[in-house]
Amino acid sequence: MVKAYKIPIESPRDLIEAYFEVKKKALREILNHVTYSRTGKTHLNFRADKRRELRNKLLKDWRYSKHYIDSAINSVIGLVKGWIKLYNRGKAKSSPEITKKTVYIKNTLFSYKNGVLKISIEPRRRYLEVDLRRYDYLPKDFDSIGGLILTESELVITFKKLVKEVKPKKWASFDVNLTNITTLINEKIVRYDLRQLYHIHRVYEIKGRKIQQLAGHKPKTAKKLMKKYSRRERSRARDFMHKLTTEITRELSELESGAILENLKNIKSRVLRKSRNPNRKLSKWNARMFQSMLEYKLKWLGLPVKYVNPKNSSKTCPLCSGRMAAYGGRLMKCLKCGLVLDRDIVAVLNLQMWGSGVTPKALIEASASMMGKRLIDQNPQISMKVYQL
Ligand SMILES: [Zn+2]
Repeated sequence: MVKAYKIPIESPRDLIEAYFEVKKKALREILNHVTYSRTGKTHLNFRADKRRELRNKLLKDWRYSKHYIDSAINSVIGLVKGWIKLYNRGKAKSSPEITKKTVYIKNTLFSYKNGVLKISIEPRRRYLEVDLRRYDYLPKDFDSIGGLILTESELVITFKKLVKEVKPKKWASFDVNLTNITTLINEKIVRYDLRQLYHIHRVYEIKGRKIQQLAGHKPKTAKKLMKKYSRRERSRARDFMHKLTTEITRELSELESGAILENLKNIKSRVLRKSRNPNRKLSKWNARMFQSMLEYKLKWLGLPVKYVNPKNSSKTCPLCSGRMAAYGGRLMKCLKCGLVLDRDIVAVLNLQMWGSGVTPKALIEASASMMGKRLIDQNPQISMKVYQL
């Protein structure tokens, strides 16, 4: 498993600029070795001797560690190859360009000891030291550090870990809605409040509308503002989801529980994009973010994640498999046995049964004696816990 984290950093500007220039030079050279065949296909013909030649040329007046030149050449070759693939499929718009000022740092260019990363800038003279212990959100349980990426203001670190798969003792199921996430964890229904997240999105929606009014006479400013605010919205939403998924992961890891999630791929993204209802879009967006974060965090610990087709998950009776119909508000009633339940709870019960192949016995037995009543109010087994972050 690999995990990437960003930390803010004061980058050595001179190296960033020098590397940027060297990449541009390398690109100009390497593009001379792209050939076009009669059929209109392109191909890169850049042999080892040519590469050595380029390397030597770029190393002249280069005062930084030599490995940076190799990494620059590799990254440009990767860029050109990617472009060729697109070109041959008729999808490349213009020729490739170096636009980003990022430096890839191979693992031969740094050492890691007692929590401190020491990155070589100039051989045996100049180093960039980063004390990772200062960032408490970074993982501590990793085996090694892979490559690093340095930008003008950030350092991206990839952590590697060999993960052994855990055989789960139980399964938890999750149903993500607009204002809550309903879960069945350890035979208990727990509901996580998403209203705070919904509020974040609403605030930015209103801001967006105000900016739109500005777009008429100040289009450039409006565009800039829009970009800034949508970035801020995404980052606040991400922070919220990180906290939530970290908490859930901690709980599942204590229980040695796997997770059952709805397979959202069954909902066509094209349909979703065209959906007029912004709340529906938002809800799916939240669900995707929640799922990918939770999956990542669980897999890092070796806990499995299963995806289940959610079709009819809130319309099938978890007791008798009969059809359920809307019964006012968020409630559903079984047309066959009369069970009345909150639709999100119906969904997590079904997801858990379908995903694990095991019926949550205690719950179903409890439900059987409660037929026709509002289960969640009267049954301590399924008492709702509401978490707020
Ligand atoms: Zn039923």
